[in-house]
Amino acid sequence: MVVVAAGAQKPCLLPVPGQERATAALDFLRLSKINEVKVGERVVIIGAGNVGCAAAAEAARLGAKEITLIDIQEPASFVVERKHAEAAGAKFLWPKFTQAVTAKGVELTDGTLLPADTVIMAVGDAPDLTFLPEEVLLERGFVAVNDRYQTSDPQVFAIGDAVRLGLLTEAIGAGRIAARTIDDILRGGRMLMITCPPWNRHGSIWTITTPVSTLREI
Ligand SMILES: Cc1cc2nc3c(=O)[nH]c(=O)nc-3n(C[C@H](O)[C@H](O)[C@H](O)COP(=O)(O)OP(=O)(O)OC[C@H]3O[C@@H](n4cnc5c(N)ncnc54)[C@H](O)[C@@H]3O)c2cc1C
Repeated sequence: MVVVAAGAQKPCLLPVPGQERATAALDFLRLSKINEVKVGERVVIIGAGNVGCAAAAEAARLGAKEITLIDIQEPASFVVERKHAEAAGAKFLWPKFTQAVTAKGVELTDGTLLPADTVIMAVGDAPDLTFLPEEVLLERGFVAVNDRYQTSDPQVFAIGDAVRLGLLTEAIGAGRIAARTIDDILRGGRMLMITCPPWNRHGSIWTITTPVSTLREI
């Protein structure tokens, strides 16, 4: 049995002109933790979710004086994360749509320029699953699993951000369910067919075999 818990550590950048001028939030946070990055006075963060808020707090710690977070919708960040960012002096603007990143800052589709010395993109991360064999099917870039976190290969399980971006507690919960299921399988319960999501390439329903004892928590 194998459990894939590789997380989502491939930063996503918005496909806009000048994207190469921006730093992906995960890269920025990694560098900021070891004080290996300079931000200047004005920082614009594209994406005002929890990760954007963490980047704002770090930018303030590194000396930024004017920090603006923009989002295409009301930010998905938790209240506590937003308060931390606001306490660090950050401002939130939405709905705002990025047109381009230039040497001057972030150009919005409404023609506004947000001046910036540093532009950070915090618009989500994706898993790097290139190491998986093709029998383990993906859905929109994440590992497809059933409700026991079993993939299209019944001997491979996947949990955490590799399956869906979420919280640490969700990753831990998924790990527990996967571990119990594997334990049941290894103990050799009676086998039963369970219907799984339509995750094969032709969109048809697959079934897998699993011990009946794994059904007790369903
Ligand atoms: C900036 C930030 C702040 C967050 N803050 C919170 C928070 O406050 N509270 C909260 O609940 N959640 C938070 N989260 C979300 C939380 O971190 C994730 O949901 C959780 O870590 C997912 O766990 P995971 O085990 O799936 O992945 P990860 O914790 O990302 O672990 C994956 C591990 O696998 C390793 N790996 C990747 N590929 C391979 C490979 N091919 N071979 C071997 N190893 C590999 C990686 O190096 C990494 O160590 C935050 C996320 C980010 C990005």
